[in-house]
Formats: sequence, structure tokens, C-alpha cells
Amino acid sequence: MTDSFAPIHIVEITLRLIPMELVESFDTASSETSIRAILLVEIADIDGRHAWGECVAFETPDYMSETINMAEMALQKWIAPLVLGQSFYDPAAVSKTLDQHIDGCEMAKAALEMACWDLSAQIQGVPLATLLGGTRETVETGIAIGLQNSDEVLAEKVQGALDEGYQRIKLKVQPGRDVEMLKPLVERIGMDTPLMVDANGSYSGHSWDALVEMDSLNLIMIEQPFRPKDVESLTRVNEVLNTSICLDESITSLGSVESMRKLHTGSIVNLKPGRVGGLTNSLAIHDYCGQHSIPLWCGGMLESGIGRAFNVALASLPGFTIPGDLSPSKRYWAKDLVWPEWEMDSSGQVAVPLENAGTGVEIDTERIEAMTLRKSTLNLTR
Ligand code: MG
Repeated sequence: MTDSFAPIHIVEITLRLIPMELVESFDTASSETSIRAILLVEIADIDGRHAWGECVAFETPDYMSETINMAEMALQKWIAPLVLGQSFYDPAAVSKTLDQHIDGCEMAKAALEMACWDLSAQIQGVPLATLLGGTRETVETGIAIGLQNSDEVLAEKVQGALDEGYQRIKLKVQPGRDVEMLKPLVERIGMDTPLMVDANGSYSGHSWDALVEMDSLNLIMIEQPFRPKDVESLTRVNEVLNTSICLDESITSLGSVESMRKLHTGSIVNLKPGRVGGLTNSLAIHDYCGQHSIPLWCGGMLESGIGRAFNVALASLPGFTIPGDLSPSKRYWAKDLVWPEWEMDSSGQVAVPLENAGTGVEIDTERIEAMTLRKSTLNLTR
């Protein structure tokens, strides 16, 4: 950036908690979600610009320890006071300040930091993807399918997703709902279908025969078979299996990607900017993965169209070589919070917004206001 642009100078932060009903319940080894509670962060700068961010934390500490209520409190008590009324040269400076003063709280920090990237793109009059260094006009999209009640329903959903154009299918698995469920499916859709599974850390280091059996299914990867703390089992399974191991919950910072590489706990990174403190840290991870030839893709957290905008912009960078979980709005919501809604074409491509400055989506503020369950406004006079 050059000195000619105005600095980031936030004078007000508004937090809103809204419930969003999913069009279908999303079940994983660690959670069942039919109503997605979403924490939105709106920032206003000294010149009257507004920008938005979305916190990806869930209501309960089953995916990761940081919950939506914890993130809300962290934003109110510690994050907002660090940025309100201060001038920052760019979003990276915001990220640095937050990481220097606050240990953890990555999801809370990310929500505010990503809003600063939107604001910075607005100030500079460029699309967010361009500001981040994106090089693609469209991004390839995969789908994540939750645990289903029967193998038949699962097969129908997978076939439906392939027919819609999705470029990669990710299935949630857990002990007891794994290899016996996958074998007939693979037989039906073919070994060449780009298929992967995500266990959300549900396997135990003492019992993972099913993971070994999965090795014969030609999966693209197995995501997070063990909890992040079970480093020994992750290293072992990564050594024993031919199938690549991808880490999701384990990745909370650049340091955790460096650890993955050094301890051989995985070989692919599922990067979610909302889980690593935001886009500045995501860019550092992107560059590190590029330097060390680590395949990278962008995961999803049941975001609304607001959060989706940041993921799509990030996934337009060259290091994202595997289709991301960047489903169109209708996959999750009867009506999204943004206009235009996110759409996918029949070849599984989502267009990167490159016409307007910022994220490229308009926020349905009236609807958000009507849906808001809880709201707090933070400013210097408070
Ligand atoms: Mg995952």
C-alpha cells in the first residue's frame, strides 16, 4: 500500500447476534446444527464508511473451544478497546496488534480483522480479492455433506451434488459411520469421483482400523481423523496410510502449519480465515504452504453470504489448488444476508466479485436488524 490512502480509523463497532435457519440440518461427528447462530461485526470509520465481518464460532465448544458467546465477550472487552480510535496503516497492522495483545480468541479477532480488510479495500477503491493478491476470476467449489440417516439418502445427495456440478464431495464420517457406509457409495459413484471424508477428530488413537480400510477407497484425503492434541496418532496415521491426511481443527495459526510439517501430522491444509485470526494470517499460511509445496484449500463454517465473501476472495489466490467448501447461498439458506446471493454455475464455479470495491456484496441491513436477537454498540464515548 502507499501512503496516499487514508488509514484505518474505526470509531464504532456494532455486534449483532442473529439466528439463521439452515435449509437442512448439518450433522457432523461433533455437532448437529439446524439453526446457525451468527455473530456479525459491523465497523464504522471516521469518514462514515461501513464494513462487515462474520465470526465463525459455534454455540458450543465441540468443534473448537472458542464459542460464539466467548467471541462476543472478547470483542467487547478486549478487542474493541485495542482498535477504537486508533489509526492503523493497513489490516496487517490491526492483525499484528491483536495477536500481540491477545492470546487465542482467533475467531473473534478474525471477525474484526476481516471487516478491516473490507474497509481497506473500500478506502483504496479495489475489490477485496485484488487487494489480497487473488489471481482467479472464478473459484472451484466442493460440497460438504453431513451425516445422513441412511446410506440411500447419502447416495442420493452425493449424486445430486455431482449433477449440480460440484467439483469435490466431502462427507462427514465418525466411528461406526465410515468404511461400511463408504464402500457401496464408492462402488456406485466410481473410484474416480473426487471424494474425501472429514472425521472432525472423532477417532481414537487406540482404534482406527476403519481409517486403514479407507485406504483402499482412493479418497483425495481424510480430514482431521484425531483431535488436535493427539499429535502422536496423527503422525502415526499420516505415516501408515497412503491416503493424504488433511488438518482442519489443528490449524489455528502459521505456527500450527509449521508444526504439521515438522511433526508430519498431515500433508494438506484446510484453511479457514475465520479460524486463524483472519486474512493476514491466512496470507502468511498461503505463502508458507506455497514455499513448501503443501496443498491448500479453503474450508467453510456454515457462514452466511457475508463470511462467504472473504472465503471466496481468499480462495482466488494461486496457492488454493483444491476446490473449497464455497457452496452457493441456496445450499444453506432460503434467503441469504447479501445481494447478489452467491451462485455456482453448472461446472462448479463461483465467480469472484471483481467489479466493485470491497467484498462485492451488499448487506441486507434491514433484514439483519429485524433478525437481531442481541446487539451491542461499542465506541469511544461508551
Ligand atoms: Mg473439518
